[in-house]
Amino acid sequence: MANQWRGVITEYFDRLDIAPGTKIITLGEGGTPLVHAPALAKLVGAEEVWLKVEGMNPTGSFKDRGMTMAVTKAVAHGAKAVICASTGNTSASAAAYAAAAGIKSVVLIPEGKITLGKLAQAIAHKASILQVKGNFDDCLVLARDLSENYAVHLVNSVNPDRIEGQKTASFEVVESLGFAPDFHVMPVGNAGNYSAYFKGYLEEFNEGIIKAVPKLWGFQAEGSAPFVAGHPIENPETIATAIRIGNPASWDLALSAQECSQGEFGAVSDAEILSMHRFLSNEVGVFVEPSSATGAAGLFKNSKLGKVPAGAKIVVTVTGHGLKDVGWALKDENGNEVSPTSCSKDAAEVAELLGLEKN
Ligand SMILES: *Cc1c(COP(=O)(O)O)cnc(C)c1O
Repeated sequence: MANQWRGVITEYFDRLDIAPGTKIITLGEGGTPLVHAPALAKLVGAEEVWLKVEGMNPTGSFKDRGMTMAVTKAVAHGAKAVICASTGNTSASAAAYAAAAGIKSVVLIPEGKITLGKLAQAIAHKASILQVKGNFDDCLVLARDLSENYAVHLVNSVNPDRIEGQKTASFEVVESLGFAPDFHVMPVGNAGNYSAYFKGYLEEFNEGIIKAVPKLWGFQAEGSAPFVAGHPIENPETIATAIRIGNPASWDLALSAQECSQGEFGAVSDAEILSMHRFLSNEVGVFVEPSSATGAAGLFKNSKLGKVPAGAKIVVTVTGHGLKDVGWALKDENGNEVSPTSCSKDAAEVAELLGLEKN
């Protein structure tokens, strides 16, 4: 297995809180591409923009970086089952890593608010799936309660092992670029990932590898923006289901990360999210789920407010793969369904249909 990326625990063993000799549960997560995005840089008036494409992880989202740590540690502690509350991607990841570890997984999902792609993943990896009559925040309260009183290990991002694994994305960004970006932008739901990026960058700073921690910009959906409101939101609403969270689990960690990095939180509308979702696939060539476009949508919004310096070097994390939530891609700007045009097998007819010029 020469030259194969070995997953974040093995690649960063010395920089993670893990005991030597621990049996590692991995699916080869991490090592995701940092994609140069000149079209986005032009749109926002920055010198350079790169996308950290986390949809390239084994289950299609960044959650795998934290899940390898959380499940590895759960198994090391003798756990026979893991549990999580999820808007979809955490459950897909927990179910896959539990399958790899040969233990059970239980996932609690909010009724009717998870995409089919993500549900299919949890089913495929044989999770026990329960739809809770409530929203994500209710699911998390229930998952915490069960893990405290029954033999099942909690793998939500309130588990510090998740944050520990997810911090490796910052290491990869710095390794790929050879420096830290001026700004790092991402979507925010529970803010576990925001906190994890800060932890990673701070460690790089403390070890003298980078000169400054990037300013962290975290964006939420307008109908689900507790960090902007300054208090939890009772009934969060947005089409960006992965960040439809009213009571973020990592509230205090995220606020201190924002303060220490001189970063900020902002909110964008669903229309702005969907428009950026389209831009990323049409103009950059990267297909993400709508929630994942929230960071880039926020960057664009801030650029219109004059907050992006011309010389800025920016990394934007796109958190999950487009194939997880295909419904939005199948509609045009006006919300009409798009489907392929039927045609004959005749080359001349097809060429005419396509408007191709004869050579
Ligand atoms: C989980 C998730 C988020 C939000 O991450 P938090 O750590 O909860 O802030 C954003 N986008 C996608 C695709 C996710 O799966």
